[in-house]
Amino acid sequence: MEIVCLDLEGVLVPEIWINFAERTGIEALKATTRDIPDYDELMTQRLSILKEHGLGLPDIQKVIDGMGPMEGAREFLDSLREQFQVIILSDTFYEFANPLMRQLGWPTLFCHKLGVQPDGSVSDYYLRQVDPKRKSVIALKSLNYRIIAAGDSYNDTTMLAEADAGILFNAPQNVIEEFPQFPVTKTYDELKKTIEGLSNRDITLS
Ligand SMILES: [Mg+2]
Repeated sequence: MEIVCLDLEGVLVPEIWINFAERTGIEALKATTRDIPDYDELMTQRLSILKEHGLGLPDIQKVIDGMGPMEGAREFLDSLREQFQVIILSDTFYEFANPLMRQLGWPTLFCHKLGVQPDGSVSDYYLRQVDPKRKSVIALKSLNYRIIAAGDSYNDTTMLAEADAGILFNAPQNVIEEFPQFPVTKTYDELKKTIEGLSNRDITLS
């Protein structure tokens, strides 16, 4: 039996922080781990910027709702879920992802959680565990599932390596070159065909 694990940002939806920064015009929110390598420092800065601008969770969710998933993502996911159990593994937070999950038909999502005050302000963040994507694959394998995983970036490569089959989707050139062991896909059609090709079951019998 198999489970397909998909990354979220860059695969099914846009990069949430970057897109949020663009939509709100808050330049300082464009900082990523490339600018501030310490994730705790980066998140603390992001949360204080949100507070400075008086942006509570409902405001943030409204902006994220307007982003929508990537074009064709819903159709891809729906057709994949007809053939495979699919779990989305992401480093985002449930509260940010929810407006997009609604637009994707509420697929299963494993990610992190925010601390939100009664007035809607975001005061904290809680990481579910360290290296969560890879740990999730290890856990699912322990349940006797064979795992096919796909992602677009560095933070997916431990998940792809841990999976029985790993696939890159829309990855930047440096990631493609550094990890030549993973097949490269650029469209949902290619990704779906590659997943089917790496599956060890006859999908017509599902
Ligand atoms: Mg990604």
